[in-house]
Amino acid sequence: MIDGRSREELNALPCTAPDLEDEAEHFIVCPECGQAFDCRKLGDVLHHDEPGHEPLTVQ
Ligand SMILES: [Zn+2]
Repeated sequence: MIDGRSREELNALPCTAPDLEDEAEHFIVCPECGQAFDCRKLGDVLHHDEPGHEPLTVQ
């Protein structure tokens, strides 16, 4: 929970990232847990910004 919002709600926020030709370019690998995540998903970005976090469960 961040500001009372769940990660799912944060992920649903509109994204201001430019459209990239390659979908893979939106993904970055977290240096902390080694999981690749979509940097357009604010909830995921904030999760991976936490020190000592675990990789997210991929649905
Ligand atoms: Zn991470």
